[in-house]
Amino acid sequence: MYVLGIESTAHTFGVGIVEDGEVLSNERDVYKPASGGIIPREAALHHYTLGPSILKAALKRAGVGIKEIDLFAFARGPGILSCLKTGAQMAAFLSAKYGREVVGVNHCIAHIEIARKCSGFADPLMLYVSGGNTQIITFQNGRYVVFGETQDIGIGNLLDKVGRRLGIPFPAGPKIEEYAKAGKHYIKMPYSIKGMDVSFSGIETFISRVQNEHRIEDVCFSLQETVFSMLIEASERAMAYCKKDSMIIAGGVAANTRLNEMGKMMCGERGSSFARIPMEYAGDNGAMIAYTGYLMRDYDRQLPQPKPNFRTDAEVIKYR
Ligand code: AMP
Ligand code: MG
Repeated sequence: MYVLGIESTAHTFGVGIVEDGEVLSNERDVYKPASGGIIPREAALHHYTLGPSILKAALKRAGVGIKEIDLFAFARGPGILSCLKTGAQMAAFLSAKYGREVVGVNHCIAHIEIARKCSGFADPLMLYVSGGNTQIITFQNGRYVVFGETQDIGIGNLLDKVGRRLGIPFPAGPKIEEYAKAGKHYIKMPYSIKGMDVSFSGIETFISRVQNEHRIEDVCFSLQETVFSMLIEASERAMAYCKKDSMIIAGGVAANTRLNEMGKMMCGERGSSFARIPMEYAGDNGAMIAYTGYLMRDYDRQLPQPKPNFRTDAEVIKYR
């Protein structure tokens, strides 16, 4: 069975194809604003313009004809409405033209499912860290429950905002990581955990006040140490409470080596397993939507309509 998945929730337009759950192709292109953050209209135009060529590339790489696709999956949300619409429209068009059904996938759950597949862990705690999302998620009573999350902005969003202040273009995460490696002096920053939730916005304000007094390397180093410690502390608490013995990190920020090091250290001390997700599947991608669509193949069918505020815990997981 071939499932084609379309990802378009934010900056990435991706198309992936799976055959019986195995990934055949995973093509994408990422919208990069000239300056500042994502402009929804521009991102949607990027997706709309490049979508067809990414679709063709994914089919070509997979060696599959469009008429052979059995099911179309698309990311319903959460995400930016104008961006979500481009993926939903493509799914609707393909469905009508080729007479195949459409399944709408929760983007956060797709990150979890591809991470579960890559790690081989049956029931891990998931730290999902991306541009717009920061969630600690566990599976309980048929749903993915958000055990802890950011009370304001996503961690990637924080890194990108701080990056903008420091003159680092979007997406700032990789460059911040590079600077952090040369950091020597730790600057104490606001460390804000409330229960299992975290809060980041105070850190940006703090950095705006002190950035001129310190080397950029030290600012980046201290920023990473502070926010990653917060996330790992909250994750450890969730693991203990939910009695999970494995952990995975996914989302664009999962590309960060230091964050993975900390996760591995924490799990090592608890006697738990830790896995780092391959780079190809860490950020937004179409393969994770196709794969999750494949898991949902016998259960859910939706009208190809976006759901911008689609919560992780809103979906009843019928395939687990
Ligand atoms: P996503 O929304 O999942 O595609 O993730 C995008 C976010 O990941 C952006 O905010 C990037 O700044 C961030 N990011 C990418 N690479 C890294 C890295 N090496 N370290 C930290 N953050 C990163
Ligand atoms: Mg994402």
